[in-house]
Amino acid sequence: MSVSAFFDLIFPRRCGVCGVEPDAADSFLCWNCRSQLRVVGDPHCSWCGNPLEGRVDHAYTCYHCTQMGPSFDRARSAMRFEGAVPTLIHQFKYRGALWLRKELVSWLVACVNVHYAAEAVDAVCSVPLYPARARERGYNQAAILAAALARHLHKPFWSRDLTRVRPTETQTHLTARQRLSNVAGAFRTRSSDRLRGRSILLVDDVMTTGATTSACAQALKEAGCRVVNVVTLARGQ
Ligand SMILES: [Zn+2]
Ligand SMILES: [Zn+2]
Repeated sequence: MSVSAFFDLIFPRRCGVCGVEPDAADSFLCWNCRSQLRVVGDPHCSWCGNPLEGRVDHAYTCYHCTQMGPSFDRARSAMRFEGAVPTLIHQFKYRGALWLRKELVSWLVACVNVHYAAEAVDAVCSVPLYPARARERGYNQAAILAAALARHLHKPFWSRDLTRVRPTETQTHLTARQRLSNVAGAFRTRSSDRLRGRSILLVDDVMTTGATTSACAQALKEAGCRVVNVVTLARGQ
């Protein structure tokens, strides 16, 4: 009996969303929940990656990006924040279901391969939590994802170069403009020469208006980063 088959006997794997036994040996999602995953495909905003319905035959920049001009160069997300995705990410983020990492990281790897294959990435960073929040939760879900992605890409994970210097209130009920001012100045880089001229891949779990990732990118650019591209698990509206 293999080690993984042995562990399956003791800890039977369950679907990360609905709890039934998955159909495939190495899956953390049942077939039904997997069928609810919706990849972010074309067409989408060439800047922030926001998907749009219908057909667009030319490079397209959304109204939000035209107005706000986010500080990152490009952002891309793997899945739409709908169907099984919100539950899956919630389990990973707040319920300690860290075993879902393998599934979630595979989304990031695919998204990077599709959108950033031509980019020369120097290092991977993640959106930091405020230290008190990280202690309370016990882990930073974005850092776990970023570390695993960096290993896949054979790039360093720079976990301490970007920090959150003040807590920010939850953004769920804020408008796009309120979100921007909510996170303005919330991030700093540690004084470090190694960021200068670098191309950074910034990881987060869910992106909505992009205010948080843009504030992180702004701090990284002020520290001299040449390129900041964003990759997230999911894209909400
Ligand atoms: Zn399921
Ligand atoms: Zn956009």
